[in-house]
Amino acid sequence: MVLTVQDVTKSYSGADGDVPVLRGVSLSLDRGETLALTGESGSGKSTLLHLIGGLDTVDAGSIFIGGREITTLRDTDRAALRRSDVGVIFQQFNLIPSLTVQANIAFQARLAGTFDADHTARLSQALGLTDHSSKYPEALSGGQQQRVAIARTLAARPKLVLADEPTGNLDESTAADVLDQMLALVRETGAALLMVTHSQTVARRMGRHVHLSQGHVV
Ligand code: ADP
Ligand code: MG
Repeated sequence: MVLTVQDVTKSYSGADGDVPVLRGVSLSLDRGETLALTGESGSGKSTLLHLIGGLDTVDAGSIFIGGREITTLRDTDRAALRRSDVGVIFQQFNLIPSLTVQANIAFQARLAGTFDADHTARLSQALGLTDHSSKYPEALSGGQQQRVAIARTLAARPKLVLADEPTGNLDESTAADVLDQMLALVRETGAALLMVTHSQTVARRMGRHVHLSQGHVV
């Protein structure tokens, strides 16, 4: 399994004490599998992605990535695992304004030590970014910036891709286009994909679908 989540619980402290968000969530994802995660706003989708991405820690339960339990790793080891095995695409693109499109796309792969010029060039081509490679992020539209964020994540060849509504702020036809490209690229690299989405249309394109409700996966 690329990813195993076992009975994970997570609460945040509120004014009247702890507010449970995840009450025992379990799921697993094998190599090449794609999974849609839906749920109402506030149901804990982003929280779960943050826990899997090692950006926050569980209260109880375990998360294994490639067989390694990340919940017991030290911060530095968790950061290293995230760099080498996990790619994250959030709604905010977090592009580096002082770097060109080309350098942004190469950035994570260089950090992870997996940079491959041919692979990166193919990704840029597939996502329609070749003509923009020497531009800076500020000169791109929102949709183009989103493609750069996707290319940057996939360029590092992560085994697990976590995406939080990656096409959420694109118009419908651009979103469908970007999703097609993402699915094709994920298939090509054999990565597993866990994608949060509000859209049933997007969810139907994924291999499996789980719904988060009342802190449980249904
Ligand atoms: P979703 O992504 O499904 O919309 P979130 O995971 O962002 O939901 O949030 C789930 C719940 O946890 C919400 O009620 C939210 O207010 C709360 N929450 C999320 N992050 C924090 C935090 N860092 N501190 C306190 N409460 C949080
Ligand atoms: Mg969210």
